[in-house]
Amino acid sequence: MKTSDVIVIGGGLAGLMAACVAASRKQTVTVLTYGSGSLPLASGAIDFGALKNLPNHHPYKKIGSQAIDAAAKFFVDIASQANLPYVGGVGKKIPVVTAVGTLKFSALVPESMDATRLADKKKIFVVAVNGLKDFYAPMLADNLKKYFPDKIFETAKIDLHMLGGRDITCMDAAQLLTENEQPLANELKTLNATADDAIILPPIFGVAGNFSRSTVQTQIRAEILETTCLPPSPPGIRLQRAFMKFLQNSGVRVYENCKVTRGIADGKKITGVVVENVVREKIFPTRKVILATGGFYSGGIQMRDFDNPHEPIFDLPVFFPTGAENWSNVELFSDEPQGFATTGIFTNDRLNPVDADGKVMFDNVHVVGANLGGVDKIFERSAGGIAIASAYKGAIS
Ligand SMILES: Cc1cc2nc3c(=O)[nH]c(=O)nc-3n(C[C@H](O)[C@H](O)[C@H](O)COP(=O)(O)OP(=O)(O)OC[C@H]3O[C@@H](n4cnc5c(N)ncnc54)[C@H](O)[C@@H]3O)c2cc1C
Repeated sequence: MKTSDVIVIGGGLAGLMAACVAASRKQTVTVLTYGSGSLPLASGAIDFGALKNLPNHHPYKKIGSQAIDAAAKFFVDIASQANLPYVGGVGKKIPVVTAVGTLKFSALVPESMDATRLADKKKIFVVAVNGLKDFYAPMLADNLKKYFPDKIFETAKIDLHMLGGRDITCMDAAQLLTENEQPLANELKTLNATADDAIILPPIFGVAGNFSRSTVQTQIRAEILETTCLPPSPPGIRLQRAFMKFLQNSGVRVYENCKVTRGIADGKKITGVVVENVVREKIFPTRKVILATGGFYSGGIQMRDFDNPHEPIFDLPVFFPTGAENWSNVELFSDEPQGFATTGIFTNDRLNPVDADGKVMFDNVHVVGANLGGVDKIFERSAGGIAIASAYKGAIS
């Protein structure tokens, strides 16, 4: 098999972003992944968290502000090439309406969710879909009123004739509307909303970029806005498709259902990775590896026993808080980070994995995304930002 310039292990947000960056630099890239990671579950918004006054071991300290800014620009560009416009930028706080009617603030937000567009509207229609679960228009409107007390709220329920044997998810509706969005446009017309109004809906406008929403918007005078939803999440899937489209156009080979089990080392270099096949092992030779295998949830970090977290492919050193008492807070929704969530790999400034003394383990392996250690990314609200910024840095290093 031909030697790749770069092998990316993992097809989540970090892996796909890293593959796109490497491909844009004219490198031959191969992606090996056995699952789609958390992208199809994620909101589609990218949170960066705080960028100042960070401890030295924080991934952003290794990535650097230049790469963080460049990553955000690259990300927006890839998305817009797939007709998936994003608004915001590093350090920005764009409001998004959640499925329960609270506002969440993110740095990069799909334009279809940008709630700053509500500011000059007089009336807001909150529209549920008959049979679609986990979206309650009256509850959403009641909660959202607290942020916009001067606006008139009206709720409605439309029928897309999707009633069948089971509850309908946003993904079901989005898939249906990707094929034909006209039934939705026809239903929204019955609201008689004007240009002074906004219509808030769950994120059901297809899975192919912003095409379905644009088509419906041209027929409706009111501004149409999507909320977040419970997983699976069409905005996360639109993003995944945007990355995949770029990779396909760049000639990148993406092998799915492909589990990397180990690396082949020559001193401090990895010269190939080994994939488990049903009947035999297969070797993929490479000059560089980007390790984007995620954290505990995706198997990038595993626990052999309580005090022994483990990186299963290259057996890299994994940082973790010592002592059971430091693993978690008693309160589940604590206002402190959770110790176990800081577990992960430490790196140098090129994102090469290092041991406890800072010694580089492999100088052509770059660790990116959720498997980076030292921070509770959920608590910090930096998971997406760390994923794309580290991916960018790993790909250019
Ligand atoms: C429900 C939900 C909502 C979220 N909402 C937001 C949000 O609003 N804002 C935000 O900024 N972030 C959000 N995130 C977080 C963000 O999506 C994650 O930080 C990001 O997806 C992490 O990406 P990753 O690529 O590092 O890891 P993952 O997404 O976990 O991907 C890891 C990939 O590696 C693969 N893999 C693992 N081991 C191997 C192996 N041995 N061989 C081959 N492949 C392997 C996995 O199958 C997977 O494809 C959310 C996440 C979830 C779950």
